[in-house]
Amino acid sequence: MRFGIQRVVLAKGKTGDWQVVIGLEVHAQIISKTKLFSHAPNVFGALPNAAVDLLDAGMPGSLPVLNSHCVDQVIKTGLSLQASINEYSRFDRKNYFYPDNPNGYQISQFYYPIVTGGKISIELADGQKKNVAIHHIHLENDAGKSNHEINPHKTLIDLNRSGIGLMEIVTEPDMRSSDEAVEFLKKLRTILRYINACDGNMEEGSLRADANISICRPGEAFGTRCEIKNLNSMRFLKQAIEYEIERQIEIVESGGGVLQETRLFNTKTGETHAMRTKENANDYRYFPEPDLPPIIVTAERVEEIKSKLPELPDDKIRRFVDRLGLSEYDAEVLCQERETSEFFEEVIETKASPKLVANWIISELFSILNKEGLPIIQSKISAKELGELVNMINEGIISGKIAKTVFTYMWESGKSAKLIVEEQDLKQISDPVVIKAAIEQILVENADKVAQYKAGKEQLFGFFVGNVLKHFNGKANPELVNELLKNSF
Ligand code: ADP
Ligand code: MG
Repeated sequence: MRFGIQRVVLAKGKTGDWQVVIGLEVHAQIISKTKLFSHAPNVFGALPNAAVDLLDAGMPGSLPVLNSHCVDQVIKTGLSLQASINEYSRFDRKNYFYPDNPNGYQISQFYYPIVTGGKISIELADGQKKNVAIHHIHLENDAGKSNHEINPHKTLIDLNRSGIGLMEIVTEPDMRSSDEAVEFLKKLRTILRYINACDGNMEEGSLRADANISICRPGEAFGTRCEIKNLNSMRFLKQAIEYEIERQIEIVESGGGVLQETRLFNTKTGETHAMRTKENANDYRYFPEPDLPPIIVTAERVEEIKSKLPELPDDKIRRFVDRLGLSEYDAEVLCQERETSEFFEEVIETKASPKLVANWIISELFSILNKEGLPIIQSKISAKELGELVNMINEGIISGKIAKTVFTYMWESGKSAKLIVEEQDLKQISDPVVIKAAIEQILVENADKVAQYKAGKEQLFGFFVGNVLKHFNGKANPELVNELLKNSF
């Protein structure tokens, strides 16, 4: 059940198997107080056109000034993906008209991107790892947004997004199934959030992917690709790729050829539709951006940023497995969000057993957070309090079963585990003399069953355990009950 990737990487057609080839172009909005080239604030959800500088509105005479924090963010991202940071990079103008792009061009990096290479390791269903190579990462500004819904007869333009700094992370065509593409995007999102370079909020459009998809016969040259634009959820990415694979197989198997084009995904029908035939780079008349000098990144700057990198998810997973004895699976689940891994580390500072703490976070805490729609930083049970609860299990003061009840009370009342156990008299009964007495009484009351058990009906053992536990309202130490019972016949 791990991550649900099928290891079968070929798609079935009527005339045989097809190899699917996928490359992603991911746009990630850079976390920064202001936009890439202007002083307008980078905010989500402001009133339309309330966060717009003259430059973002394409006013004549306005000039771009590069936000160096955004450059640091891309360098940090490149380092986290084990890429090379280029000493020299520069901006190029990508010319095209669009109503929400008032300048008539986008300032992007085409010939000399700031980051080249890099890779992300993803995990496949059978536990195997696979690297997806990054081709490059470049910096560019975002466009505004056209709204066709508020007024059915007019298109309204909101330029708040215009000019926000984006990193475009372009992969090699290394993925072979929709699940691999989803795993890649999830892992990238995790890393970007760890390093605080992008908030990864796909619903708000801070992270969105264009998927390039083609099919070919296994072992043959790659086929012609289509690009599906602007996929803003993991589910849509998966659906769009799967639809596109089927569409292309059908075309090719019925004797046609796939056209290289840009397509849009319709979230309501789950289908993709042609938007335009694929443009080539020369259609954009790229030329060096005359209003900005090249970016020169010194080795010292790279070193400085490297020295401040937090521990990355893969390293943290290794540490949790090697040093704390967690299973690979538990470590991965805990490390998916940096906040969760930090919460976990805070809990184990109380000396509670890491394995047990991992279980408690992944089962009990996740399920209640999920139910209430809360992020872990808003957990009503603090890391320290959860540690106390788990320690009470470790020390045999309460049973794991009772602890679940205590956990629920803690969540609802805000009281500590110790107080609840005392108030409600929930301490585990571990006195063998007391338990033995109860066992003897129960055996006397059920003499018929004892006889049957002795005659070989072994499954009755569970009946006796159940009755003893019931006698103590579930508070008796279950291992002790088992052991004492075994010696009672
Ligand atoms: P362009 O320069 O025309 O945009 P690139 O070669 O830079 O094309 O590739 C853009 C994206 O398409 C990359 O993510 C790359 O991995 C992917 N890609 C390239 N060729 C294929 C192919 N045959 N099938 C699927 N994806 C591809
Ligand atoms: Mg592109």
